[in-house]
Amino acid sequence: MANSLLLLAEAVLYFSVMVALFRFRHRIGIGVFLCALGVMHFLETYLASVFYIALPFGLLSPGSTVLFSGKLVMLLLLYIKEDARTVRQPIYGLLFGNALMIGLVLVLRQHEIAALPGGQVPDIAFIDQMGWLMVWGTALLYVDAILIILFYEKLGRHLSRQPLARVAAAVCTVLTFDQIGFFTALHFVAGAPMEVLFGGWVAKMAAGLVYSLLLVTYLRWFETERLPQPRGLTGIFDTLTYRERYEALVEHVGRDGLTGLLHRGRFETDGEVALAASRRDGKPLSLLIIDVDYFKSINDRFGHAEGDRVLKSIAGLLSNAAGAKDRVFRIGGEEFAILCEHPHGIARLLGENIRQAMKGLSRTNGLEISVSTGIATASASTGGLDELFALADQRLYTAKTTGRDRVVGESAGERAEAANPERAAR
Ligand code: GH3
Ligand code: MG
Ligand code: MG
Repeated sequence: MANSLLLLAEAVLYFSVMVALFRFRHRIGIGVFLCALGVMHFLETYLASVFYIALPFGLLSPGSTVLFSGKLVMLLLLYIKEDARTVRQPIYGLLFGNALMIGLVLVLRQHEIAALPGGQVPDIAFIDQMGWLMVWGTALLYVDAILIILFYEKLGRHLSRQPLARVAAAVCTVLTFDQIGFFTALHFVAGAPMEVLFGGWVAKMAAGLVYSLLLVTYLRWFETERLPQPRGLTGIFDTLTYRERYEALVEHVGRDGLTGLLHRGRFETDGEVALAASRRDGKPLSLLIIDVDYFKSINDRFGHAEGDRVLKSIAGLLSNAAGAKDRVFRIGGEEFAILCEHPHGIARLLGENIRQAMKGLSRTNGLEISVSTGIATASASTGGLDELFALADQRLYTAKTTGRDRVVGESAGERAEAANPERAAR
């Protein structure tokens, strides 16, 4: 019992001090945290090779239980709050530092060592042995660190709302892998008995849970800058992790700068994907192409800046009108497209809603704004996105030439043909 409590006290002490150094990284520099991590790494390996305690379930070393598990959690913290580039630094630093230590010990052994007055002699063989253990430990750590980031990312898909489960699952899985790997070396280099494997594993699982709880609490209470919602590019570089930054960037470049809607390039790719999915799952897919009527005259009368402002408010209106699963694109200057998983009739209603909503927008802007819309719905015979687009575009043209401010979809004749293709063919 006393041993367990002491381990808990060590973990809390280690975590609190390390995290305090991390918390003030913007003021004192991240180097302070990284150096402390390096020093603890030395103590960790020393303890793991000679310092063991007995608990009811087996033998364990505070070096592995408290310090190694803690180091892994610190690396995860570094990744979550900084990025993959930063987390690589201590991993490589530890690896090269250990290699250097072994190299130096090889040279040091060549000295003729003077006896000290008390008759003490340095235990160079021990440092040597520990050095090899450290190299193995850091090689393993290298794999562990990659694994923990990978797991953490993968688990994010299913557990993004349960941070404790996400962190604990990642930490405990990697600690299990590490326990097997490190024990193998310990067994051959230092002759560690089998009970160390099991005892150490149970202790690491307990440590993994305690640290995960501490980490999530720390992130929740002390690192309060919220994730996602990238506030422009600077926001992306401030708070997101490497992958999240990457995804946010991809998302950002897939969007039109003026309106924030998805842009033409995305329309081509998303459209093909949506069409393939609708064929595969037998779900309907409709395309609305929306062109602002006499937009040039708004530019001419009120200037380009006012024109831009109107485009933004139209984009806002379209996003509001579209459902959560629908995708809204700006495919040209004042042309928009909506891809929705609706049959033709519902897509037509959406077009009609948008047409009506433009009246409200006209009132608030004090301008006459209307749109013409062409709608096409994919069928079994639709060849590809080009064909669907051409059909919707042709109907948009009809809307333009028959008076604008209207929605054109399938004609009654086309509907009959679609309902009974054989009779229509005759
Ligand atoms: P209609 O479609 O009804 O035939 O008439 P229109 O006046 O809208 O004609 P058209 O579609 O040919 O013209 C589109 C105009 O949109 C031309 C261009 O000056 C303007 N435009 C295109 N992109 C932008 C933009 O990003 N900002 C602004 N302010 N205007 C743009
Ligand atoms: Mg146009
Ligand atoms: Mg136009």
